[in-house]
Formats: sequence, C-alpha cells, structure tokens
Amino acid sequence: MKLAGGYNVSIKGRPSNDVEVLPEPQVLQLPLQSRFLNFSNVRVEEGQHVRLGEVLAKDPDHFAIPLLAPRAGTVRLAAAENHIVLEDVSRADHEPYDSFEETEHIPENLGSVGIKRYKLLQLGAWQFFRNAETGGPVDPFGTPTAVIVSTVHFEPYVARGDVQMQKRLRAFTRGLEHLQTLLEYQQIYLALPEVHSSLALKVRDMIRGYAWAKPVGIPFRYPFDSPALLVRRLGLKPTAENPVWALPTEGVLALDRALTLSQPCTVRIVAVGGPAVRKPVHVKAMPGYPLKDLLAGRLVDGPTRTLAGGALTGGEVTETQLGLDTECQGLTVLQESTRRELFGFMRPGSDRRSYSKCFLSSLRGQFWESYTTALRGEGRPCIACGECMSVCPARISPSIIHKYLYQDELEQAQRLRVDLCVECGLCSYVCPSKIDLRAEFIDSKQDIERELQTQEPSE
Ligand code: SF4
Ligand code: SF4
Repeated sequence: MKLAGGYNVSIKGRPSNDVEVLPEPQVLQLPLQSRFLNFSNVRVEEGQHVRLGEVLAKDPDHFAIPLLAPRAGTVRLAAAENHIVLEDVSRADHEPYDSFEETEHIPENLGSVGIKRYKLLQLGAWQFFRNAETGGPVDPFGTPTAVIVSTVHFEPYVARGDVQMQKRLRAFTRGLEHLQTLLEYQQIYLALPEVHSSLALKVRDMIRGYAWAKPVGIPFRYPFDSPALLVRRLGLKPTAENPVWALPTEGVLALDRALTLSQPCTVRIVAVGGPAVRKPVHVKAMPGYPLKDLLAGRLVDGPTRTLAGGALTGGEVTETQLGLDTECQGLTVLQESTRRELFGFMRPGSDRRSYSKCFLSSLRGQFWESYTTALRGEGRPCIACGECMSVCPARISPSIIHKYLYQDELEQAQRLRVDLCVECGLCSYVCPSKIDLRAEFIDSKQDIERELQTQEPSE
C-alpha cells in the first residue's frame, strides 16, 4: 500500500531528550483502570505488606495481565476509589518478589516457549504486546502472523523510542533476540525512522545479519508510525486467531529485563509535554506515581487540562485519577480556555496555525502553535473544505462518513469502510469546523462490531 495523507503537527512543548529521574515517592496511587486494562480482580488485602513486583490485581478479561507493585509498601484499598494505594513506599525493603515462582500449575506441555511467555506475563512485560490493528492486548499463548517492533512515535507528546533506548541499545538488541525465540517462523519487522539518526544507524548495524528481523523505513510524518497502517503497508494478512503483534521500544526493553534478569518491569519513561508545561521533558516514573507530585512546579499559571497520551489521541485525565496508569506513555498538558471567542473565526490569526493556510500565521514560515483547549468560537457544521480527506492516511472519506453518521446511517458508514480508520485524530485536528470526527468514528466502529456480533451466523 502506498502511503497517503499524514501531517506533522507543530505544537509548542516538545519534550527534550533529557530523562529526569523523579524523587522516590512516599505513596503510590495505582489506578485499576486504564485505556484497555481493567484490573478488577484484586489479589491483596487491606493493610497487607507487599514486596516490589508482587501481584496486586489482575485483569480477568485480558489473559490475567497483572498489576505489579512497583515498590514495597502497605496496601490501602479504601483510600481512593478505583485505585490500590501503597503507603510507606520503599525500594530498599526486601529482594524483589518473583511472581514467576508461582509456576507449579503451568502445564508441562507448554514447552520452553510457553514457559518464557508465561514468565513475561508474570513479570509484567506481556502488557506491552498489542494487537497492531486494535491496540488491545494479545493472547500470550497465541500465534501471531508477524510482529512489528516500533522504535518511533511521531505524535506529540508520546515518549519517544530513541529516548527510551538511550544507553540501552545492547539491551534492546538482546530483547529482539529473545523475541525471536518466542516465535516459530514469523517475521519481525523493525520500524525505524527514515531520518539521519546515529541511533537508527546503530540499530541497523546491530541487526544486520539477523534474517528474522527486517528493517522498515518510516517517513517522518504523523501517523505513518501507526502499527495499523504498517500492517496494510506491508501487505500482512492478520486474522482474529492470528493477529499481527505490535511491540514498542519499551516493550522490547521490558522483555529483555524479564528474560535476562528475571526482573519485573515496574518503571517507565514517559513524556511530559505540551504548551502548558514550562520545561517539557521525559521522566522516569513508576505506575502509581502521584500526578499531583509529578506535575508540581512544571505548569504555567492558570487552569490546565491533562491528557493521558498524545495531543491528538490522548484521553482526558479526570479528577478522580490520582496516579500514573500502567499504559500511559505520555502526559500532554494544554491551557484550559474558559473564554469563548466571539467571532473568533474572523480574526486574522497570526498566532494561530491552520492546515489550510487560511490564517496569517501561514506567512510566518516555521511556526509552533500554542495549542489550547479552545474551540476558537464553537463547533460548526461541515463546510466541505476537504481538509480531512487530504490528511487521512487510511484513504477513507471522513466528511462523507460524518454526514452519514449524522443521519444515523451506520450501514453507509460501514460501506465507506469506517473500519479502516486508524484513529490517528488528524481529521479532527485539521477540521476548521472543529468536528470531533475521530470520536465519532471510534463510536461507530464499536457500534458496527456490536451489530456484527449480534447477527445470527448464517447456516
Ligand atoms: S478518519 Fe481515522 S484514519 Fe482518517 S484522519 Fe480521521 S482518525 Fe485518522
Ligand atoms: S475538515 Fe471538517 S469542515 Fe472540512 S470537509 Fe472535513 S469535516 Fe467538513
């Protein structure tokens, strides 16, 4: 498949390559829910002392993926709704708990590959293995069609693979070697940026000679790094039983940590960026790190809105979420706009970026927008400008699908292949009428999926 569409979003607040190590926390507030995972099966009791790496809860709907204790501490279940709180947190308590010790019940017929995969599950590394098309978790004992390992993230402000890989290049290539031992014959595709980068060159050098790893160059344009797009570009044919697995850089590093050192993955490198962050950086933090402490002193004055994830696809962090969740790859902070701009669309906009070059800012050359939560007026009807079509990398027609969905014509949206949407959010970003097309398409895909599931199978 030929690449089409895409757009590089220029917003202020790109995190630097520096990785700041946060102070050890006194308390951890671990959310039980994140984008895909729901750790509803709590395995600890009030007041229980847990060791680093001990299982706190499991997600029964996703292969019992565990929530591990990132530090030793005392469990408080009632301290915050939908969280497990750890008090008196300490890293120097005991030896890390090895949850892989609980292996007596593993069926012997799993073989060495099955045991390794079980170990990844127990040590928290399996949560990084995802279905390349849906982003959801995959079966640890399933068989993939192929594996895509991504070292790139072009969406602002998601933690970048090159930053996570700094000084850990050997661990990364060793992780790839471990990954290969988990497979039978399936190809591993390694997505590398098509830019002059010494790190990308080193990675290419290190994997030269690995017949099972094939480098794939990714043009520097959002969202060409999307695993779902790569599946189509590479002509892979995944099925429900044999999906394509996607693994980010930190997943490969977690895999290496689990299989080389038998240690759990309890610390992440996440980005903290956006126009409302004074000094955008990457931070080394563990799940459950209190967001209040993580963001203290970093933000500009005034009300802000925090998104878990990137600027285009991140979901709002609500007031009820207290700590960093296990899936978060970055925090994007925008200035909250309480002011409604009367006739805002009529302003010349020298300080406003637009894909369509309709504002004066297009004369300023390189320009980074100070993106806020403002609608700059209000949502308006589709004006058929066609901008959403020109950026859409999935080659579908967002504005036409929108019109059908507006009339509740789900079958027409299905006919126009809304299912091919990779949920990059570019259409919503460039839309001058500020229509939240991405959210509409996510909802409609779910509706179609539900309808298909309820349909009687034909004889
Ligand atoms: S329709 Fe989907 S794939 Fe196309 S630009 Fe919008 S969110 Fe991205
Ligand atoms: S970008 Fe917005 S206004 Fe323009 S055609 Fe698409 S939906 Fe309509």
